[in-house]
Amino acid sequence: MSPEPDQPTPLILSTWSFSARGCRAAFPSLAAGGSALDAVCGVARDAEADPTIDSVGFGGLPDATGKMTLDAAVMIAPERCGAVCAVARHLFVTDLARKVMERTAHVMLAGEGADAFADVMDMPSTDLLSPAAAQAWQRWRLGEPVGRPVDAGPASGQLFASPPDACHGHPTMRHPEERETPHDTVGVLAIDRSGALAGACSTSGLPFKLAGRVGDSPIIGHGLYVDPEAGCAVATGTGEMVMGVNGSFLAVECMRRGATPSEAVHEVLSRIERRFRPQSHQQVGLIVLSRTGLWSAGALRTGFIVSCASARGTEMLPPQFVMHPDEAVEGPHPVGAGGNA
Ligand code: ASP
Repeated sequence: MSPEPDQPTPLILSTWSFSARGCRAAFPSLAAGGSALDAVCGVARDAEADPTIDSVGFGGLPDATGKMTLDAAVMIAPERCGAVCAVARHLFVTDLARKVMERTAHVMLAGEGADAFADVMDMPSTDLLSPAAAQAWQRWRLGEPVGRPVDAGPASGQLFASPPDACHGHPTMRHPEERETPHDTVGVLAIDRSGALAGACSTSGLPFKLAGRVGDSPIIGHGLYVDPEAGCAVATGTGEMVMGVNGSFLAVECMRRGATPSEAVHEVLSRIERRFRPQSHQQVGLIVLSRTGLWSAGALRTGFIVSCASARGTEMLPPQFVMHPDEAVEGPHPVGAGGNA
């Protein structure tokens, strides 16, 4: 049965091109009447299992001490959300966040408590550090390049972890200009045939981060927000900047007050720009989906890609809106623009 003409048509939107495969795999079930929540979890799980993605799940880059930790969140409504952060022994953290939402009275579990809950849920525990990630960490410790786009993390003048001091053997504090930090959270939004919205995000956070650092992705309202009365939003990039403006919540609130998705994207990125004055190697990407299925995406700089699965097929699109189109932080991208609002 095809949807009523005024019903939203199923759609999955996801950050970065590496999520296109997961979108393609998840779309047929969504199109056949599956739930938006199952779709977003499926896309996130696909990225978590892929060892070639060095920012999500197995394959993600560790913190400054060489320890891997993962963060994730899922959300379908303000009163229906779950999140985990600093998970050290379990790979499928989006499923774990979903279990927090569905099986507990809480929203967020952190660290060993989150791992212990996963044990209780009979989720298999595993070593999260891939051989390639361990090698990248070794290179980083020696001050060698790790071959990814740069991101300076915190604002200039603040401190972050850099390779261990040769004399003392532990991470030292240096200025952000000196480090390379790739970042590419998988953030997924979907709308199903019933018009229900869902969102998920999963990340290993900023690579070589200070031990204990948690970014925007698992924090409801920062990296992800979903409200069926208004719409949903998901972010990727330097989490500290997204957190400073409550990026995803702000985008949804803009739509609640009448903004289109593209106006909401513009407002969030403008605020980040105004408050943080991001450096040329810092990036934020944002995807916004209205409750009626209109969407838009934007980024501070060229290079952000949206994977989009719909009845048209699966596409990889640059965002509609780029604050600094002449400044790229990543390589070539397809022609065309993502968004319909
Ligand atoms: N936003 C994530 C964080 O700050 C990183 C990313 O998007 O890659 O943890």
